[in-house]
Amino acid sequence: MDVTLNRISPEDRKNPPESMNGVVFGSVFSNHMFSMVWDDGIGWHDAEIKPYQPLVLDPSTLVFHYGQSSFEGLKAYRNPSGGINLFRPRENFARMNRTAQRMCLPELDIEFVLGALKQLLQEDSNWVPQEEGTSLYIRPTKIAIEEALGLKVSSRFLFYIILSPVGPYYPEGFNPVKIVVSDQYVRASPGGVGEAKTAGNYAASNLAEKEAKAEGFTQVLWLDAVERKYIEEVGSMNIFFVIDDEIVTPQLNGSILPGITRKSVLELARHWNLKISERRISMEEVQEGLKSGQVREVFGAGTAAVISPVGQLHYRGDSFQVGDGSTGPVAKRFFEHLTSIQYGREEDPFGWVETL
Ligand SMILES: *Cc1c(COP(=O)(O)O)cnc(C)c1O
Repeated sequence: MDVTLNRISPEDRKNPPESMNGVVFGSVFSNHMFSMVWDDGIGWHDAEIKPYQPLVLDPSTLVFHYGQSSFEGLKAYRNPSGGINLFRPRENFARMNRTAQRMCLPELDIEFVLGALKQLLQEDSNWVPQEEGTSLYIRPTKIAIEEALGLKVSSRFLFYIILSPVGPYYPEGFNPVKIVVSDQYVRASPGGVGEAKTAGNYAASNLAEKEAKAEGFTQVLWLDAVERKYIEEVGSMNIFFVIDDEIVTPQLNGSILPGITRKSVLELARHWNLKISERRISMEEVQEGLKSGQVREVFGAGTAAVISPVGQLHYRGDSFQVGDGSTGPVAKRFFEHLTSIQYGREEDPFGWVETL
């Protein structure tokens, strides 16, 4: 399938923001988008790069009612030679295909969509910002667009990719966050859709996050839905603990989102011969470890922040400070090396970076 190119007219062409300072995450979009449509019996068709524009959809469109959808999030980085780096983009499209299986969505040909993404990035290459710590956020999205109110698997889908320049996640430096453990709400349950990057998971976490923010916390730490005992993940990040000299993260269990940053942290830790384990970890163990000082660091890992140190944890009315409340050396080491690989400041021994 060829990708039709329909360039924006010179009058409509916008310039990227002069500076990313103060630009709110996900509020500015580039000049073009990629899209294609799936119909049962035909497959994907009408692949095109076209001016960024609203979607026109019938009010009955399935996705609005039943949420059959999937999204991804990755970034393009400006490298020191002025080129553009992508970080493990195939992993995102492979995960999108796993989400597709769970959500009855059609899968993508990974090499084809990666090619289309690269073509879109070439068109809007001036939208990859230059300033330190900035990047171009890439949002692939797939939605059910059959027009019908009957509950069913759609026969028609839209896939699109949009691009949004984003500022540094830590404009004032690396600040540890305060998180609250939710024992009232759960994010995902065994057999559910927790490991799929699909809209409903985020709608389901809004209330807990709204309540947490009202109480002054940045994020919610989720426990398992069955026993409300084992740690799952935090907000839209996976979570890591440094316990004595071991790095521990909850093992993937079907309700945890399998993060690409998580995977990269684990691979980097193995490369450095650090002691790591993916296992069940209970809130009780963490609580005890924070009291005794054995839990030395807690940090989140996800594309948006890369590494997000946790300075304080709140659980059932008790507050626990992590270490001395500042960013620990392990979190810092992962942050520095991962971002250096992403931006091409450091050699990439893993073949994670793809340069345009
Ligand atoms: C996207 C996401 C993550 C992190 O995944 P990355 O691939 O590292 O960005 C973790 N948890 C949830 C719930 C997510 O949606």
